[in-house]
Amino acid sequence: KTMIEFDSVTKIYPDQTVAIEDISFEVERGTTTVFVGPSGCGKTTTMTLVNRMQDPTEGTVYYDGTDIQDYDKVDLRRDIGYVIQEIGLFDHMTVGENIATVPELKGWDRDRIDERVDELLELMNLPPETYRDQHPTALSGGQQQRVGVARALAADPNVILMDEPFGALDPITREELQDEFLDIQERIDTTILFVTHDINEALKMGDKIAIFDVGELVQYGTPTEIIREP
Ligand code: ADP
Ligand code: ADP
Repeated sequence: KTMIEFDSVTKIYPDQTVAIEDISFEVERGTTTVFVGPSGCGKTTTMTLVNRMQDPTEGTVYYDGTDIQDYDKVDLRRDIGYVIQEIGLFDHMTVGENIATVPELKGWDRDRIDERVDELLELMNLPPETYRDQHPTALSGGQQQRVGVARALAADPNVILMDEPFGALDPITREELQDEFLDIQERIDTTILFVTHDINEALKMGDKIAIFDVGELVQYGTPTEIIREP
């Protein structure tokens, strides 16, 4: 039931920056693992190796038991949802069309897509009759980020990568989205990798927490284990 495994993975950028060095960990299917640590310590780099935006310099990443190099990049990205701080919604499309992009790529039929879009809007507390046909620019930051999460979940991905998903939101909206997402997490069977620099957010959202410090994974465990030996 291991979904993702890093085996002695090192990533060195062309300018010789060692972003992560000799990192190993395993992520169980259906769990949330939070990467936490200061800016520049290698969290985002680690995420980019999971959907093959980049390839490791040394070591192996396994996805569902297979060396990730053996997967087609396009297949991998349809199987892995991605949410970032800067939302990245398409402003020229409606909210509904944004959420439908990956299901459409996957060739789902129209009825199934429409049903899925409304179901996700309900799940994110955005009543479909009000929000489906709006453009993202008409929504608040918190609402846009909800649409971003809905879009990442739309085609039932096996894995979602979330890089500071709530980082740009005010503290109150941020806490609302954390609570909503915890609730959603219990109802889906998706493996989640979540990046934050906020240790409290990490302790709240994670089944497992990976603490990074300049390119190294210094601690890995459950929130209880992390609190016990800080
Ligand atoms: P974050 O802290 O959210 O990971 P960064 O500021 O580290 O954001 O990186 C933002 C973007 O800039 C990323 O796409 C990253 O790959 C790129 N980047 C970061 N540092 C460098 C660098 N020294 N040279 C080139 N690109 C970089
Ligand atoms: P974090 O997500 O924890 O902020 P990153 O993975 O973005 O960390 O960056 C780790 C290190 O790698 C930093 O020193 C950053 O400047 C560097 N880095 C990130 N992307 C690039 C890049 N494209 N080229 C060169 N260096 C990079």
